[in-house]
Amino acid sequence: MLTVNAYAATSPTDPLVPTTIQRRDLGPHDVLIDIAYAGICHSDIHTVRGDWGPITYPQVVGHEIVGHVADVGSAVTKHQVGDRVGVGCESGSCGECEQCRKGEEVYCLNGNVQTYNGLDTDGSVTQGGYSQAIVVHEDFVLKIPDSLPLDKVAPLLCAGVTLFSPLKHWNAGPGSRVAVIGMGGLGHVGVKLAHSLGAEVTVLSRTLAKQDDGLAMGADHYYATSDPATFENLAGRFDLILNTVSAGLDYSQYVDLLAVDGTLVILGAPTEPVTVDAMSLIAFRRSIAGSANGGIPVTQEMLDFCAEHGIVPETELIDASSINEAYERVLTSDVRYRFVIDISTLHTATN
Ligand code: NAP
Ligand code: ZN
Repeated sequence: MLTVNAYAATSPTDPLVPTTIQRRDLGPHDVLIDIAYAGICHSDIHTVRGDWGPITYPQVVGHEIVGHVADVGSAVTKHQVGDRVGVGCESGSCGECEQCRKGEEVYCLNGNVQTYNGLDTDGSVTQGGYSQAIVVHEDFVLKIPDSLPLDKVAPLLCAGVTLFSPLKHWNAGPGSRVAVIGMGGLGHVGVKLAHSLGAEVTVLSRTLAKQDDGLAMGADHYYATSDPATFENLAGRFDLILNTVSAGLDYSQYVDLLAVDGTLVILGAPTEPVTVDAMSLIAFRRSIAGSANGGIPVTQEMLDFCAEHGIVPETELIDASSINEAYERVLTSDVRYRFVIDISTLHTATN
């Protein structure tokens, strides 16, 4: 067992605190990763605050993880000591069901292993990336292309694939009109990806405060949803709308922005139920769908695509001691556009 410094939640309401956790000894197919950087996803905050139900405390969250391979198990073939690697939202799955065989491990029919607050194969609760090191089966370790800067790339492991996967699934590309609702951690990466895939990209944000940034990232159009005229002007316009909002919305308003056969994909995961006016869907054979981050093959494809197209998330690097402040800033949408924790500062956080 390896003891490592970490930052943990101890209750739904108390600030996260420095702690230590144990990492298991390497099994034959395990990889030990020295974590360099970890992104702060809004899902981390939903989880520790109990928005999605009770969790096990203390809990170390973080599923946007990058670093270097420090050691490998005896049978590991995919990774070598020193490699630049990443881990995303899943760190295991059954490997045998129809979905796993297709490389859709995120939809494992026997239940995947979430990187944190998940049930590991040995019955323990998984602990995530706000920590100095992690042990993960080699199949769930991604390769980080050399051209991507390690200190900025962590958000791709969740935010990146969460947007790339539906963009690919619903065939976004030249000739398609894509809207992204919410210009946050997920949304801003979605703008860059959709633009690079060749789609016409529109941002639907509450205000125009981030318009210049959105246009610079590749958006063709930018509208404020606080302006009722937005919904009149854009009625029936989009083939695909990706909703990244962390709170509930009037979904029918957005369904009305879909073209015939268009799809509204729910990515943001608030606690409120999704209710939609039936006639909005029926009228133009519109669909409403959900999508979870992505399997291992599409995650690697996304990383390689980002390297090829020079796509790098916009990040603010913070010390571990600033995690609680960063949470508050995420909750007030005061983030440009993803916080990334410099894990080397965990040393000082525990001193
Ligand atoms: P984030 O950085 O906080 O961004 C969310 C954005 O939503 C904000 O920037 C804001 O955009 C908009 N927003 C926030 N509150 C709002 C409100 N009350 N009304 C309307 N718009 C509001 O969060 P994130 O990390 O991108 O995550 C977004 C959501 O996706 C979270 O619920 C998270 O749990 C979920 N998620 C899902 C998956 C998945 O697999 N499906 C993966 C990762 C995350 P504007 O300021 O532009 O309006
Ligand atoms: Zn996430």
